[in-house]
Amino acid sequence: MDAGFFVPVRIVGGENCVKKGAQHFAPFGRSALIVCGKSAAQNGALADVKSALAANGQSAVVYDAIPQNPTLACVYEGARVARENRVDFVVAIGGGSPMDAAKAIAVLACQDAPEGLFAHAIGNAVLPMIHIPTTAGTGSEVTPYAIITNDEQKTKQSISSPALFPRIAFLDGKYMASLPQEVTVNTALDAVSHAVEGMLSVRAGGMSDLFAKQALSLLLGEYENLLAGSYTPASRQNLLYGATLAGMVIANTGTTPVHGMGYSLTYFHGVPHGRANGLLLPNFLKECERIWPGSTRKVFDALGMDLQTFAQKVKALLGRRKKLPEEELRDFAARAAKNKNVRNCRVPFTEADLYTVLKRSVG
Ligand code: NAP
Ligand code: ZN
Repeated sequence: MDAGFFVPVRIVGGENCVKKGAQHFAPFGRSALIVCGKSAAQNGALADVKSALAANGQSAVVYDAIPQNPTLACVYEGARVARENRVDFVVAIGGGSPMDAAKAIAVLACQDAPEGLFAHAIGNAVLPMIHIPTTAGTGSEVTPYAIITNDEQKTKQSISSPALFPRIAFLDGKYMASLPQEVTVNTALDAVSHAVEGMLSVRAGGMSDLFAKQALSLLLGEYENLLAGSYTPASRQNLLYGATLAGMVIANTGTTPVHGMGYSLTYFHGVPHGRANGLLLPNFLKECERIWPGSTRKVFDALGMDLQTFAQKVKALLGRRKKLPEEELRDFAARAAKNKNVRNCRVPFTEADLYTVLKRSVG
């Protein structure tokens, strides 16, 4: 089994790590563009970053106009702000949306992409990035991907390059004290999905499986707290470390049909990314087992439970689900079938198999 693994991101973790680790910002230059959404000002992360930068005599420009599911318009505008202010580096604060937007901004601040961002071959000239997650889910702080809304294709699309790895990820669960219960659950399910999908990727290896198992152990160890909606600082930190480990998994393996199908639920129905994956994951595993008996054994070993128990646990977290009409299920299956995530799965999925998963999950 292949044991290759590559995540060139310095991890600085623990309570108050941003302020305590101010020296880590120093080498990147005189001025930063801080990319965030509106919650960063409330959860304390923005104030901590400003104070760390000030301690080094570095200046900052704040660009806080990142919506959920970042758009091309917001990343081009962010790049314009970066160029106008001649910033030297980018600090991203937030969930996956600001963290991904920051990556695209870091590219577009240095590279013209006349053919459009999605067709652009990303070169190495990218502003250095420091990422500070305030949700525990996407793992974007350790991945070489940015997922941006592609309105032309009516989907969400990833751009990918080793140049998109942030230089540093600061992991402090205290920023999640204010995270709404729904976002906490959705993002935790995203991280679980990353670990599970990573294990079923054609690129899974001994090392990525090891990280996936540890991620699942941390994330599922918090299951009762997720269900009850009650968190200690330690449980927030466990969820965050679990999500970051799962991010390291997909940084090496990529994702599978769950993400490929989930993009349509998000694009057409506004279903949050993690929730979309949570809705699809149990039936995806069921279908994997039907197509290739035994293919999911290592996943359930790592989960420490069988499919039925896992499906019940996920269902209890998700609550009521919306049902979609037949023609949409068929359309979403056809769209997902064209997605490269499908070919990234060790279990071969046809469009009919994808339809089966969608029908059972949201039909
Ligand atoms: P998100 O869209 O970044 O944030 C969801 C909501 O939570 C926003 O309203 C956000 O507000 C709020 N929020 C964030 N942190 C908060 C805090 N500490 N306290 C209170 N509210 C807070 O959600 P996400 O699930 O983290 O990210 C999803 C995005 O990541 C999707 O676009 C998905 O495609 C992408 N993704 C990327 C990767 C990757 O490898 N790059 C992997 C998986 C998913 P504000 O933003 O206004 O602050
Ligand atoms: Zn995801």
